[in-house]
Amino acid sequence: MNKFITIMKAWGIASFHNEEQKQLAEERMEVCNGCEFLGEINLSDVSGNLIDNYFMCRGCGCPIKTKIYTPKSSPKEHKCPQGKWID
Ligand code: SF4
Repeated sequence: MNKFITIMKAWGIASFHNEEQKQLAEERMEVCNGCEFLGEINLSDVSGNLIDNYFMCRGCGCPIKTKIYTPKSSPKEHKCPQGKWID
């Protein structure tokens, strides 16, 4: 599976997920919360006003709130770049 397709699927599942997908995402988020690669990003406008704040995986550069919805069936290399997720 192409990585771009995996990312698009993760975004879709993040918006429309079933209970099993939600539970898997929550389990992954628990792992990410204890990970040294989780980083907070603050986006500011040219005046320095905060316009957005989110967390990303510094291992792959993906926003974590959608990455945790990476399909279970995806190749291992599309999931946690450090291999920390169980599934
Ligand atoms: S996806 Fe993996 S490497 Fe990235 S923050 Fe989560 S546990 Fe850490």
